[in-house]
Amino acid sequence: MPAKLSDILVCPVCKGPLLQSSSERRELICPRCRLAFEIRSGIPAMIRSEARELTESEAEHYCAAAEKLSPARR
Ligand SMILES: [Zn+2]
Repeated sequence: MPAKLSDILVCPVCKGPLLQSSSERRELICPRCRLAFEIRSGIPAMIRSEARELTESEAEHYCAAAEKLSPARR
């Protein structure tokens, strides 16, 4: 059993790794696409048209977090 949803799910748009939201919001974040996928009743809505766009400050926050996780990305 994977420990976290974000370990098994990838972004439906770019197939990149997702980050778990650090806020109270139940969301999975794609820093590349600057999208947040809402988790409803424990099930992430992995649909581009339902994703929320990150604000500028959120995007910066998660981009920095993603670089820490994978310094040698791409
Ligand atoms: Zn993406």
